[in-house]
Amino acid sequence: MTLLLDSPLDMHLHLREQEMLRLVAPFSAAQFAGGVIMPNLVQPVDSLPRLRDYRAAIIAACGPEPFTPYMTLFFRDYSRAELLAARDEVIGLKLYPAGITTQSEAGVADFDRIGTTVALLEELDIPLLVHGETAGFVMDREREFLAVYQWLAETFPRLRIVMEHITTAEAVAVLERYDNIAATVTLHHLMITLDDVAGGLLQPDLFCKPIAKTPRDREALRQAVFRGHPRLLFGSDSAPHPRDKKECCGCAAGVFSAPVALPMLAQLFEEADCLERLSAFVSGNARQFYRITPPQKPVGLQRAAWRVPELYGSVRAFLAGQELRWSLAGSGEAKV
Ligand SMILES: [Zn+2]
Repeated sequence: MTLLLDSPLDMHLHLREQEMLRLVAPFSAAQFAGGVIMPNLVQPVDSLPRLRDYRAAIIAACGPEPFTPYMTLFFRDYSRAELLAARDEVIGLKLYPAGITTQSEAGVADFDRIGTTVALLEELDIPLLVHGETAGFVMDREREFLAVYQWLAETFPRLRIVMEHITTAEAVAVLERYDNIAATVTLHHLMITLDDVAGGLLQPDLFCKPIAKTPRDREALRQAVFRGHPRLLFGSDSAPHPRDKKECCGCAAGVFSAPVALPMLAQLFEEADCLERLSAFVSGNARQFYRITPPQKPVGLQRAAWRVPELYGSVRAFLAGQELRWSLAGSGEAKV
């Protein structure tokens, strides 16, 4: 059995730089027509020259595979002129609360002061992508941030807002309430709860921000995704770290899911008996909300089992060592 997806998109992706970029970009390019590239590099992507350099490096790292990097600028105060100049080259601005996740120190410390730039985004029709967590107790951070989303959605009703990597039942409820809000959902948050991370022996490869939540939260996400909510978009949040940054004191947050994203999603949708809805989740919904038309790139999946390698270079992937039922057509992955 094969499944042909029409230009699948990963709407939340960390590709890093230099050697790591060259290692991980081909996995996304092999599966996706394009992806939304996160700007939280060591030096944030917060100017057009820097954005152009980074886009060129990504395209070079993808090699011969066609892949459209949909670029984002790191949120700061921007002038109207800056945003006008950037509008045709970005898919949106990415807002991080200060210090909340990997390389977000330059993020927003005071939400009372973002109104001017956000109003410009609304006027210029540039989407706002948000890492929505407070600095509160780790399990409550997303819930506590939901008031900010509601304030944004109501104060700027024409602004398109994306709640990135939602993990809670309450976030799904907010999504239902506002037409100008969409949300990305990761593969791993559809699969794991906090129990998988820390209920037994600690699993550094599953440690991420936002932290995986309760079975009830996971069920709410699954229900909304598998029922085909039109404003839920797949965003892997694939975020590679070398093993020595994961298996150490002070484990870095991030799950490297790029190599397994589409095969595992196909398996999940098949198990939920809704394989016909996969295409909207990984492409159609994103095209509609973001109003983008990615270049034509059919991607085939086949029902042929393979085992996820233990390591990709210096990085352990999500589901390393496990057997998956679906594989990329023509991928040449070791069959089991
Ligand atoms: Zn992310």
